[in-house]
Amino acid sequence: MDLRYSAADELFRSELREWLAAELALLPPAPHRDDWLARRSYDTDWQRRLFGAGYAGLSWPKAYGGQEASPGRQLVFLEETTRARAPYVGVNFVGLLHAGPTIIAEGTDAQKSQHLARILRGEEVWCQGFSEPEAGSDLASLRTRAVRDGDHYVVTGQKMWCSFGQVGDYGELLVRTDPDAPKHKGITWLMLPMDLPGIEVRPLRTVSGSSEFAELFLDEVRVPVECRVGEENDGWRVTNVTLSFERGTAFVSELVDAMRLVEDLAPLVRDPGHRRELGHVTAELDGIWALTKRNVTQAERGVTGRGTFMIKLAYSETRQKLGELSMRVLDREALVIGGPGNFVEERLRTLALTIAAGTSQIQRNILGERLLGLPR
Ligand SMILES: Cc1cc2nc3c(=O)[nH]c(=O)nc-3n(C[C@H](O)[C@H](O)[C@H](O)COP(=O)(O)OP(=O)(O)OC[C@H]3O[C@@H](n4cnc5c(N)ncnc54)[C@H](O)[C@@H]3O)c2cc1C
Repeated sequence: MDLRYSAADELFRSELREWLAAELALLPPAPHRDDWLARRSYDTDWQRRLFGAGYAGLSWPKAYGGQEASPGRQLVFLEETTRARAPYVGVNFVGLLHAGPTIIAEGTDAQKSQHLARILRGEEVWCQGFSEPEAGSDLASLRTRAVRDGDHYVVTGQKMWCSFGQVGDYGELLVRTDPDAPKHKGITWLMLPMDLPGIEVRPLRTVSGSSEFAELFLDEVRVPVECRVGEENDGWRVTNVTLSFERGTAFVSELVDAMRLVEDLAPLVRDPGHRRELGHVTAELDGIWALTKRNVTQAERGVTGRGTFMIKLAYSETRQKLGELSMRVLDREALVIGGPGNFVEERLRTLALTIAAGTSQIQRNILGERLLGLPR
């Protein structure tokens, strides 16, 4: 493992710091977390600024408008933007981190030219329609069906937990095109234009009162065949391409943010027992940070390290500990939503971390089976 940054990376860091200091001063105040139209315009405006300054799509190939930056440089970018409290990727998450990379890997030339530049410039927002009421961890048992009718698929079914469903222009949609094939063999990956007739988006309210995701009801929606990514019935393979992008640097911003939260919480901690707990959490975050750097060092050499499988599990559980500790430290103030430091919203949000992008149990199954070679 080599934890040092190159001189060129450090130069990149100082230029980025300077740019962030100037640009962040120009930003309007962040919108209310439940005003999704305002959030869309705030997040896409930030994406446009990044694009204008040459900081958009650091991991994307140059041929598609990206910067093809090394993993180390991407890490510097995430460190600096998080430390400067720059806006998070927000509503651009699915487009930049899932759909765009999937289209780069599996899309046709026409699909690439239609979508990639627009995603990078913040002109096109995506949501993800994978999970269903009976298909979450066991995603391949999904039942939303698509029947071919000439140049269209006629899609009927229900999707759950569709993040950014209220503001998405397109959705990543998994459908069953062959109900008679074994479950992994009859799935197809479609791009769903969210303005097609027959789509109903119903926002879901979470425990913190926010509505960051939605249910999608699809009633005989006619999706053009040219919206298919990959071959018909080969969608499970394409899905695995999509999900592999979640394991890249998706948690680095979260991790740096958690370290910053520790700094915010530390001055409020008086009780020696709480101080000891905060010390443990800090040590765990330091360990995950070292693992992240090792993964990045390996990625620079083209190796997918084993640590990539562990980051999500370790990070999400440690962040929950931090959220829970912050509630005890704040005591009565912890009863107030919108109180100091937004620790309460933070605590409620962390409940979802061990579920989203694969539950902790599923992560443990993956570690056991793929890394340790244990029987299923
Ligand atoms: C914040 C958030 C955002 C999300 N965004 C999206 C999105 O944009 N698009 C989308 O499609 N989905 C999204 N999801 C859904 C997410 O992918 C699923 O919630 C997750 O995969 C779990 O599925 P489930 O909720 O159906 O739970 P289930 O699969 O029903 O699991 C219930 C419980 O059983 C356990 N379990 C299930 N199978 C096993 C097993 N084989 N071994 C051991 N334990 C098992 C699970 O760990 C869990 O504790 C989001 C979820 C969250 C929390």
